[in-house]
Amino acid sequence: MLKIGITGGIGSGKTTVCRIFETLGIPVFYADTVAKEIMTQDPVLISGVKDTFGGESYFADGSLNNKHIAGIVFNDQAALAKLNALVHPAVFRAFDSWLETNASAAPYILKEAALLFESGSYKMCDLSILVSAPLSAKLSRVMQRDGVTEAQVLARMDKQFTDEKKMEMADFYISNDETTSLIVQVLALHEQFLSRI
Ligand code: ATP
Repeated sequence: MLKIGITGGIGSGKTTVCRIFETLGIPVFYADTVAKEIMTQDPVLISGVKDTFGGESYFADGSLNNKHIAGIVFNDQAALAKLNALVHPAVFRAFDSWLETNASAAPYILKEAALLFESGSYKMCDLSILVSAPLSAKLSRVMQRDGVTEAQVLARMDKQFTDEKKMEMADFYISNDETTSLIVQVLALHEQFLSRI
């Protein structure tokens, strides 16, 4: 089973690109969505978070106290590394069990992750795709989608590798600059991946 990682900076359009692959019947594992879900579902992860960041990391009803955790990790690299060391293995576990149920009938699968390269999870993929877009497009898309300020988007971008660095690491590239058709680019890659299996 060919496993292809797909990434891109915030607002680059990686989820949009993945939705196009899904219309071609390709299963997509959305690592960032799963990471959020398992924060309240994976018992090993939950107890690790409580041990590391305190019982107040969760409310009495079991939901995550995002504000508490974000307050600790946002400007503290060491605390963020501790959180990642808990979350990343849990996402890998979830990915392995997802593969068991989704991979058998598909020619290949995609793993979408914003921090594919930063987290090292690209090493568990056979190939990788970078989705890229001009800075102005990324800023306006995220400001509109999330109702946040330009400064808030830039602060989030600061935590990610630059596109130049990711470009050196990626095997394939999709440009979401709103002039080159995404569908045409996805279909070209799809043909290439099918020819590899
Ligand atoms: P994030 O990392 O923040 O989750 P992302 O890379 O997954 O972002 P998307 O969610 O796919 O990006 O796109 C961000 C926003 O921009 C969405 O609201 C999406 O509908 C819009 N968008 C993406 N690509 C285009 C495009 N080519 N034309 C117009 N809008 C677009």
